[in-house]
Amino acid sequence: MSGHKMDTLAVHAGTAPDPATNARITPIYQTASYVFDDVDHAAGLFDLEIFGNIYTRLMNPTNGALEGKIAALEGGAAALATASGHAAQFLAFHTLMEPGCHIVAAKKLYGGSLNQIGHSFRKMDWHSSFVDADDPANVAAAITGKTRAVFIESLANPGGVVQDIAAIAKVAHDAGVPLIVDNTMATPVLCRPIEHGADIVVHSVTKFLNGHGNSVGGVIVDAGSFDWASSGNYPYLSQPNPSYHGKVFTQAFGNLAFILGCRALGMRDLGPQMAPMNAFLTLTGMETLSLRMERHCANALALAQWLKAHPKVDWVSYAGLPEDPYHPLAQRYLGGRGGAVFTFGLKGGYDAGVKLVSSVKLFSHLANIGDTRSLIIHPSSTTHRQLSAEGQEAAGAGPSVVRVSVGIEHIDDIIADMAQALEAA
Ligand SMILES: *Cc1c(COP(=O)(O)O)cnc(C)c1O
Repeated sequence: MSGHKMDTLAVHAGTAPDPATNARITPIYQTASYVFDDVDHAAGLFDLEIFGNIYTRLMNPTNGALEGKIAALEGGAAALATASGHAAQFLAFHTLMEPGCHIVAAKKLYGGSLNQIGHSFRKMDWHSSFVDADDPANVAAAITGKTRAVFIESLANPGGVVQDIAAIAKVAHDAGVPLIVDNTMATPVLCRPIEHGADIVVHSVTKFLNGHGNSVGGVIVDAGSFDWASSGNYPYLSQPNPSYHGKVFTQAFGNLAFILGCRALGMRDLGPQMAPMNAFLTLTGMETLSLRMERHCANALALAQWLKAHPKVDWVSYAGLPEDPYHPLAQRYLGGRGGAVFTFGLKGGYDAGVKLVSSVKLFSHLANIGDTRSLIIHPSSTTHRQLSAEGQEAAGAGPSVVRVSVGIEHIDDIIADMAQALEAA
């Protein structure tokens, strides 16, 4: 499929007529395991001397089609589908981190990632520093001899913040550390982080890739370009592995060492595999990814412009607006587009926010993004309600802040619903 445009890859990459039945659509291989040809075949599979199907925790043909599609869209060497976006992040870090190691992450991240990295990873003795990555010098200053990865979101959830991927990649590489980019909000239609120096891309496919809000999933994409061996800092990949008769992944698998480590070590031993049914739903959703992103972005821009002129709205933070401080970075990395998720501030504060989300009819009031439907949430009464007032402000989730994920309905209907709800607020 190489050489084809994004729209064509979204439809075709990773999928071919089923070799067993000629079915045009990749079937849901709803099986736990696969029959061996003979004992030698089984031994070769278990020793990773030959690649093939063993057990669905390790690989599944429906998942394999999805992995091929996303790797092609991102321009990566290979991919691994996971049970959720958080499982993708966990497996990626697990492959790179030893106890006592350290992650430098951007401060402006999806709230769940702040929890995962800042709190749950501590139980594995993995440490972290959250920095304002708007200035890549802050990333450089936070890197220590124990740092094993830098983590950012290309387009951050929820703030509409765009990060300077190439500059941050350079800072990471100068320190011998890989850059991991969460590309959930931008999708490869707006941004391909590997082209700007990212070594690993992760996604919550729950959001725009699936696009229809019908299943949870994640993926890890390996650019296949980072040198895991020479620093000695990634022993899981560069040292003999006792669970594979002393195999050294960097020697045996070359540029696929990382993604095969995620699969044959991390996924084998920790187990957060994607269900084949969810891979099927995501494959189907992804066929329309380019069309949906075009409409999502056009609708979001139109709504942002309309809100900006509304007397009850204090401010709008959307990188697609030409006057937005992140617009120059959006032009460099996102083709000038701002994605579909943004925040705005209401003049009426907390009460106005609660009234607004209670008054919408077309918008769904819920905690998700990236659905065909328009979605809305008031963070300070929901996702961020446990935080102190200062914590809410720091997270961009103060009492007057509302977040929308703009759907692909007709823009007139979206604006009409927002107009009547603002009237009520
Ligand atoms: C939702 C989300 C995640 C977590 O993904 P799950 O599929 O919910 O586990 C990670 N990063 C971003 C940017 C997200 O929006």
